[in-house]
Amino acid sequence: MENNKLYDMVILGGGPAGATAALYGARAGMPVVIIEQMTLGGEICSTDRLDNFPAFPDGVSGAEFGMLLQKQMDNLDVPVVSGQVEKVSLLGEVKTVETTAGEFKGKTVLIATGTEPNLLNVEGETELRGRGVSYCATCDAAFFRGKKVAVVGGGDAALEETIFLTRFAEKVYLIHRRDKFRGCNWLQDKVLKIPSVEVLWNSTVNKIEGEDRVSGLNIKQDGKDRSVGIDGIFIYAGRKPNAEFLESVDLECDERGFIITTSKMETSVPGVYAAGDIRQTFLRQVITAASDGAVAATACSQRLYTY
Ligand code: NAP
Repeated sequence: MENNKLYDMVILGGGPAGATAALYGARAGMPVVIIEQMTLGGEICSTDRLDNFPAFPDGVSGAEFGMLLQKQMDNLDVPVVSGQVEKVSLLGEVKTVETTAGEFKGKTVLIATGTEPNLLNVEGETELRGRGVSYCATCDAAFFRGKKVAVVGGGDAALEETIFLTRFAEKVYLIHRRDKFRGCNWLQDKVLKIPSVEVLWNSTVNKIEGEDRVSGLNIKQDGKDRSVGIDGIFIYAGRKPNAEFLESVDLECDERGFIITTSKMETSVPGVYAAGDIRQTFLRQVITAASDGAVAATACSQRLYTY
């Protein structure tokens, strides 16, 4: 891997979108490089099990999925740089990406940096982060064996992680602000059948309480204040684009900051593609992210070599 090389595609993010783009790009003979700040696989690595990807009849752990992606990149000699993207210059024929691991130049750039969790923005959340406040059940659930925890949210992530947490915690309060979940029906059915899960409908968190560690919550349920004793809280209140480095870039985005693309994953800037969870899309899954990556690399290959 050379920093001063001109790559056909500099891929920002090594999740399923970025890695699949690299797979298709490398197989099309294009020099590509992946910049990833954590481990290859991205967000999926912190998921307990991936149960809805074809050809894994028994599911696969997020960590194993990440390792398999790494092996695939190694087999294809795709360089994976460990670093964080700090600044990009995307206009013109040659695009520049400045990272903590140096500068990379590409004829095209693929933005596949995914999303990060939304905060609840309530008192105690930042103060007690890492001391009972968590955004990753797979990482932290084991600390709550035999304890009481709360999960906030009503989407797929909240439902899935509630199920996971019941393997450790004695009791899981699932706190949702409405009287209907957003997550898919099969996860709803599964959650509602678990005796150790108590759903607190129409409830919002006012304050996370505790001195050194989380000890409880003050919530508003059906308009009334109430205290709930817990040892930990897992927040799944949706996600926002991981795109701080794009602040000064004039890319067309929707009102929530998700990048708008064509069906070929082209953004409003020529030679810049976006794929996976960071783009405005109907479904955010590993399979759709992978599909986006395949489309982006193929479109890029056509752009550089067919005409
Ligand atoms: P999501 O689908 O956007 O759900 C976020 C949940 O948090 C919603 O129920 C929302 O309530 C609630 N919420 C938002 N802001 C809140 C606040 N300030 N206070 C309290 N609650 C708040 O997000 P997600 O569950 O993280 O999923 C993100 C994407 O990944 C989705 O497309 C999802 O399908 C996908 N995903 C899929 C799987 C899977 O297929 N197994 C697993 C995880 C994630 P409202 O419902 O009232 O808006």
